[in-house]
Amino acid sequence: MPDSNQDHLTGSGGSGCAIIGAGPAGLTAGLYAARAGYTVALLERLAPGGQAATTWRVDNYPGVPQVNGAELVQKMADQALGFGVGLRSEDVMRIEPGPVHRIVTSSGSLQARAVILASGASHRHLQIPGEEKLQGAACPIAPPATELFSGTCPWP
Ligand SMILES: Cc1cc2nc3c(=O)[nH]c(=O)nc-3n(C[C@H](O)[C@H](O)[C@H](O)COP(=O)(O)OP(=O)(O)OC[C@H]3O[C@@H](n4cnc5c(N)ncnc54)[C@H](O)[C@@H]3O)c2cc1C
Repeated sequence: MPDSNQDHLTGSGGSGCAIIGAGPAGLTAGLYAARAGYTVALLERLAPGGQAATTWRVDNYPGVPQVNGAELVQKMADQALGFGVGLRSEDVMRIEPGPVHRIVTSSGSLQARAVILASGASHRHLQIPGEEKLQGAACPIAPPATELFSGTCPWP
């Protein structure tokens, strides 16, 4: 819960909490921060959902035995936005730390008392012809966890 000294910045561009990246981590952080009463700006340079949005099948999300990645993250986004998270389509260029942090983006800047980095990761690419086209569709980058951990993985 926010403490009594918490400042919710108001006015143009002000935000109590800025979250960089709207993948599963950023959406989850946004959900909790908004429910705790913070004003939340969620900054995403692409579409919300992050890497999980690129896979056609997620098997290991608790409570959801099998689901399309894009569908799963759409539900996460809907839930976060439903609690008042403010999604902004902006690429964060740099953060200027201070008592009030300044976040400089591709299209301006905003201020926040707290900044959560949820910018995720990106995997190495093979740099081979056709890779982009097959990514997330027919070209697995990792075996399913069940096969990996049970020793039945068909891939070397
Ligand atoms: C093909 C594929 C299949 C997968 N399958 C599974 C699976 O079945 N089960 C499973 O558990 N996991 C799976 N994963 C892994 C899972 O998707 C990731 O672990 C998860 O998405 C990580 O979430 P995240 O929010 O930490 O980061 P990310 O998903 O990487 O999200 C980070 C977000 O931050 C944004 N961002 C980064 N920098 C900036 C910036 N400067 N300004 C604004 N925005 C920025 C990015 O655009 C991105 O949307 C898979 C991943 C891939 C690629």
